[in-house]
Amino acid sequence: MPEKDKDKISRRDFISNTIRGVCLLGLGGTLGLVATRTQAGDTVWQIDPNKCIGCGRCADHCVLEISAVKCVHNFAMCGYCKLCTGYFEPQPNALNTGAENQLCPTGAIRRSFVEHPYYEYEIDEELCVGCGKCVVGCNAFGNGSLFLQIRHDVCVNCNECAISVVCPSGAFKRVNASKPYILKGEEGE
Ligand code: SF4
Ligand code: SF4
Ligand code: SF4
Repeated sequence: MPEKDKDKISRRDFISNTIRGVCLLGLGGTLGLVATRTQAGDTVWQIDPNKCIGCGRCADHCVLEISAVKCVHNFAMCGYCKLCTGYFEPQPNALNTGAENQLCPTGAIRRSFVEHPYYEYEIDEELCVGCGKCVVGCNAFGNGSLFLQIRHDVCVNCNECAISVVCPSGAFKRVNASKPYILKGEEGE
C-alpha cells in the first residue's frame, strides 16, 4: 500500500477511535442512572439494532410525549462520508447543511468537516424523535453506523413497552439492567 494511503488510513483510524470514546461516554453516562434505579437481576427494555428495520413506529408509539428511543452513532463503524445517506435527502440540491437537503425531520444530525474528504455526523438527542429515517438511509448505502436505542435516562421501563407491541421485526427485548445498551454489531443477549 502506498505510504500516503497508509497515512490516510491511520489518521482516519485515530479520528474514529477518538470520537468513538466520546460516543461510548455518552451511553456510559446513563449506566450509573440505570444502576441506581434497578437491582441485581433486573431487566430493562432495549432494541436489538440488528433486527430493527427503522419502520418509524418508535417515534409514534412510546407512552412519553417525545419518544425515549433515540438515534445513536457507533463512530467506529462510520465511514465519515462526504455524501452520507443517513444525513442527506436521496436527491439533495447540494452537499451542504441547508435544511432542504437534510433527511432528518427535526435537524437533529450535526454535520461538521473533519479533514478532506471526511465529515463527522453527531446526533443531538434533545432534538431526535426516534423516527429512524437516518437509520434506514445509513443502512441503504452506508455502513449502518446509525441505529436506534432506548435511552434509559428518559425511558420509564413500562411493564409492557407500547412500542414492543407494534414493532414489526421483533426488535424489542428485555436485557439485563447491568448491560442496558446493545451496540450495532454486538449480539444482543
Ligand atoms: S432522522 Fe429521526 S432518528 Fe434520525 S436523528 Fe433525525 S429524528 Fe432522530
Ligand atoms: S418502555 Fe415505555 S417509556 Fe420506554 S420506550 Fe417503551 S413505551 Fe417508551
Ligand atoms: S418499531 Fe421496531 S422496527 Fe420499527 S423502528 Fe422501532 S425497533 Fe425498529
